[in-house]
Amino acid sequence: MKSFLKVVVFMGLSTGASLSQAACSFDVEVGDYLKFSAADMTVEKSCESITVNLTHSGKLPAKIMGHNWVLAKSSDVQVLATQGMSAGLAASYVPVGDDRVVAYTSVIGGGETTNVSFSTDGLTSGESYMFFCSFPGHSYSMRGTFNVNP
Ligand code: ZN
Repeated sequence: MKSFLKVVVFMGLSTGASLSQAACSFDVEVGDYLKFSAADMTVEKSCESITVNLTHSGKLPAKIMGHNWVLAKSSDVQVLATQGMSAGLAASYVPVGDDRVVAYTSVIGGGETTNVSFSTDGLTSGESYMFFCSFPGHSYSMRGTFNVNP
């Protein structure tokens, strides 16, 4: 009975931490489905830089079920997702040189990992940001809110 309780408490803690955490470094997992492991993310402006580590734990290759992590203002997500489609896989489905893209990782397939680090200088606390996957057709399901605390 004692050990059973310990397991429950541990699971509760780890689930809470992965859903919403204020930190400077994040581990985000994706798989052979259209979902990020994090529903929302919160960063501190006081972090000098933010690092996002993306892991694809699925089996499908990048051209079939590729995922990336792209950060932009919420109001720019739709147009960036549309323009990213024509940019193609080689450009990670992100419009080349578009400064509305705050940060992005390359597109990865099953068994691969990637990461991106970016400065918090370009982030405004209180602004509405979203992270999303720009692989064609994924951005509607694969998105979440990105909060910037002062
Ligand atoms: Zn995706």
